[in-house]
Amino acid sequence: MSTKELDSQYIANTYARFPIELVSGKGSKLYDSEGKEYIDMGTGIGVSIFGVGDEEWVKATTEQLTKLQHTSNLYYTSPCAQLAKLLCEKTGAKKVFFSNSGAEANECAIKAARKYAADKKGVEYNKIITLNNSFHGRTITTLAATGQETFHKDFLPLTEGFLYADAGDIDTIKKYIAEEKVAAVMIETVQGEGGVVPLSQNFVSALSEICKENDVLLVVDEVQTGNGRTGALYGYMKFGVEPDIVSTAKGLGGGLPIGATMLFEKAENVFAPGSHGSTFGGNPVAAAGALNIISRLDEEFLNEVEKKNDYIISELSACEGVKGITGLGLMLGVETVKDVNEVLKACQENGVLPIKAKNKLRLLPPLNISYEDLEKAIEIIKNACV
Ligand SMILES: *Cc1c(COP(=O)(O)O)cnc(C)c1O
Repeated sequence: MSTKELDSQYIANTYARFPIELVSGKGSKLYDSEGKEYIDMGTGIGVSIFGVGDEEWVKATTEQLTKLQHTSNLYYTSPCAQLAKLLCEKTGAKKVFFSNSGAEANECAIKAARKYAADKKGVEYNKIITLNNSFHGRTITTLAATGQETFHKDFLPLTEGFLYADAGDIDTIKKYIAEEKVAAVMIETVQGEGGVVPLSQNFVSALSEICKENDVLLVVDEVQTGNGRTGALYGYMKFGVEPDIVSTAKGLGGGLPIGATMLFEKAENVFAPGSHGSTFGGNPVAAAGALNIISRLDEEFLNEVEKKNDYIISELSACEGVKGITGLGLMLGVETVKDVNEVLKACQENGVLPIKAKNKLRLLPPLNISYEDLEKAIEIIKNACV
């Protein structure tokens, strides 16, 4: 049986896969089972931020892999301790909890926020405000946090205690905080799955202020926007706000699963032994890889991300098949005149692999993509759009 046949017979029917079987890659290049070469403009879903088989990352992970792969959290290991230190130094967070995915990082963020409010104001202060059109994960609680009905409908009842407001609607959020018992507000700085839509500076600033005034925690879901993707180390840094909890995953792993929940000053001491945990969380191999990745995302590198953003926007905005471009850094949504599925198919046929977000073409290339590959990919995307 072919991989495609095996997949459709034995794998749960949850993915509408593209008709491509990927077998290998190097840097920004991917190869399929027929030997066809593609330029990677999706990095999985914003995961392989240094591309495929990045030498430094491979060295860091394989050295750890051959030494010790797993310990559980019953023992100390150096890579996750070092990674936590580096994340705290670079963000101002005080403590980090490690898990294995974005949804888990958000579960931890939600638990931490509720625990903070319970300790400080009482257990009835358990409401979390999230935004319509957001995406926070697929577990029952993170689905509840996700402000999109379509994801909810077959899985009710979801976890209680979530309130939804439109992005930009500060009045509704103020009203909720005044009338309900609210623990936290949770946002993505750029709504990724929602169509690569950045929040406005005014909204984020006002939100940060109102959270501070009311001792409501500001939780930022940086699962997709984090780790250099937006041109800042974390997306919130672009908005000049100080969050209380930040969750991340995707690009942090660079290709291996890891999630992290960063607890800033207010939430630093919410957990005690037994209040949260994970068997695989803080896996030494994934942590060694993440340590390598975070240590390389310096200012010079992030400036390069911004330059590539400028290049892509100037090229695509001059293309008559493009209606508009949204997003930050190398997380871009391209609104096309033609149906996005048609554009995507033409890209794939011509050797470029972007992905989709709602009705937009979504570009999440490796952050270190060469200009040679980037120029080639943009040329193919432009041709696919007209
Ligand atoms: C992908 C994503 C998640 C879920 O991450 P998983 O690793 O798939 O659980 C949560 N929040 C945001 C913003 C995401 O983009």
